[in-house]
Amino acid sequence: MVLQLRRRKKPYDPFKTWKMKTKIHCNKCGFEKVSDFQRFDYVCMKVSDKRAKHKKCDGDVEITGIWYEYNETPEEKKWKEYERRFH
Ligand SMILES: [Zn+2]
Repeated sequence: MVLQLRRRKKPYDPFKTWKMKTKIHCNKCGFEKVSDFQRFDYVCMKVSDKRAKHKKCDGDVEITGIWYEYNETPEEKKWKEYERRFH
């Protein structure tokens, strides 16, 4: 069963495999949060959409970082588990 998993290949889909993340920072209290990337986000931008105000302190929110994160598929997770155990 495990060997079958290795042979099966899915077409590579970068949009499913890589996910863009945005870090937002509250200028008033220093609160930081990682959220999904929204279109037109860039570093040092003052956020003006629904994330614009920090709910707890009403401070302005700014973007401090944008990066790509690798999104493991369930199959890859299974494989890592397997390799940890037997290699
Ligand atoms: Zn705040």
